[in-house]
Amino acid sequence: MLKRISALVIVFLMVLSALPVNAAIVTDEGLLPFTDVRSGWYLPAVEFCYVNRIMSGKSETCFDPKGLTTREQMMTVLCMLSPDDTVYPQCSFTDVGASSWYTPYVNMAVAKGYTSGISDTLFGVGKTLTRQETVTLMYNFARANGKQCPTEGDLSVFADTADTADWALDAFSWAVREGIIAGANGKLNPRNPITRGELAQIMFTFTEKELYDCEHSYTEESCTESAVCTLCGLIKGMPLGHSYPILNCSVGSDCERCGKHIVPEGHKFTGADCTKPMTCSVCGASSGTALGHTTDCGICARCGVEVFKDNYSRFVYYMTQRGMTDSSDLNVKYLMANVKHTDGNTSTQYVKYNTITRRTTFEIIYKFVDKEHYVRTIITMDLGPGSSYYVESYYSMNSDLTRYPFYGSGRITASDNSFVLNSYHGDSSYRKQFESVVKGTLLLNLDASNTLIKEFTGISMADFGFTAFK
Ligand SMILES: [Zn+2]
Ligand SMILES: [Zn+2]
Ligand SMILES: [Zn+2]
Ligand SMILES: [Zn+2]
Repeated sequence: MLKRISALVIVFLMVLSALPVNAAIVTDEGLLPFTDVRSGWYLPAVEFCYVNRIMSGKSETCFDPKGLTTREQMMTVLCMLSPDDTVYPQCSFTDVGASSWYTPYVNMAVAKGYTSGISDTLFGVGKTLTRQETVTLMYNFARANGKQCPTEGDLSVFADTADTADWALDAFSWAVREGIIAGANGKLNPRNPITRGELAQIMFTFTEKELYDCEHSYTEESCTESAVCTLCGLIKGMPLGHSYPILNCSVGSDCERCGKHIVPEGHKFTGADCTKPMTCSVCGASSGTALGHTTDCGICARCGVEVFKDNYSRFVYYMTQRGMTDSSDLNVKYLMANVKHTDGNTSTQYVKYNTITRRTTFEIIYKFVDKEHYVRTIITMDLGPGSSYYVESYYSMNSDLTRYPFYGSGRITASDNSFVLNSYHGDSSYRKQFESVVKGTLLLNLDASNTLIKEFTGISMADFGFTAFK
């Protein structure tokens, strides 16, 4: 029996996997090495097939339980379940070359009656197996190897028995009776391709219940040893795996079950980032210093966070990004903000200021989003002795500011920063409205040191999101 198992091993490893033949790798926790089989109905079957070397993975870490199996792969498996040294004659199927790796197995499977191909002339190389083909091959195999295979299973309980090919009915009847096939949601799904997870399940049941005439007497499993049948050598499943409490980097840890000590490996420090130093992935200790952001003004290339020393540098950065600097006038700066007003409305505020001369000019374009109204205000600040601020404002109905229904000018007194309207042009009934607009527009009122000295009623620097120009 053990001989059969080892023969199975070699074939499945060769056929279903590109891995070299080596011992089953089980993690310290007693888990499969396949990260795509951590749960699911097929887990016990995959574990069984893996530890008994019946099936291996598609790679070291992937079993691919939803993947498919070809006919020649399956043939090789069946042949190796009952190996003999006979050289069988070349089959007559035109798609089976004389020197392919699977040729001896197909020849043997044909000679022994496991398969008769998919037509008189074709074996079906490369064709993936359906569920009814797989069950039929297992049935043919069992009968050819002297199993009784009574066909007494009740297929009437399955909703899709009528979809099953006539040639597969006996095989399903046998497989259902023996518990090799249970169906899914009351269906046999005979024409569906069989997945590797389903094949593992069938091989599990067939191998444990049918192939071995054994009452199986299993040993106790331990952290590192699987339960093994003392009569036939079949392995029951995975070892338990060690159970370590929270790992400790400096003193190690002991398995709660067997006491095996993990030698402390020291911290496993991983990736520092902009704001955090390296951190141990096991215990959380930290080491070194944070990397810091890649810039002190702009967007950090590493973490994507905005880094600005103040809101002024933020506005300058965004205006530069939007191409709103004027290279012909290096001292001109632009600011833009979405302003939320105390009445709940928002508007776009655009500020341009020029500090190239002693006289400082601010140009403010202010759009009311709820109305198609624009305000253009020019503030001229004379910063010399007895300084004053002169304000002109234009209240327009359209964005290009060509039509001014009202305009006027005013002054902010140097003594108490109060606003005095000097002149007004337009319908007098709108004068009060105009005054409030001019005041509301004049958000930024600076003294010679560029600090805020006044906020106007109903709107504040906080509306801009910053507290001072600098
Ligand atoms: Zn046994
Ligand atoms: Zn242990
Ligand atoms: Zn640590
Ligand atoms: Zn960063």
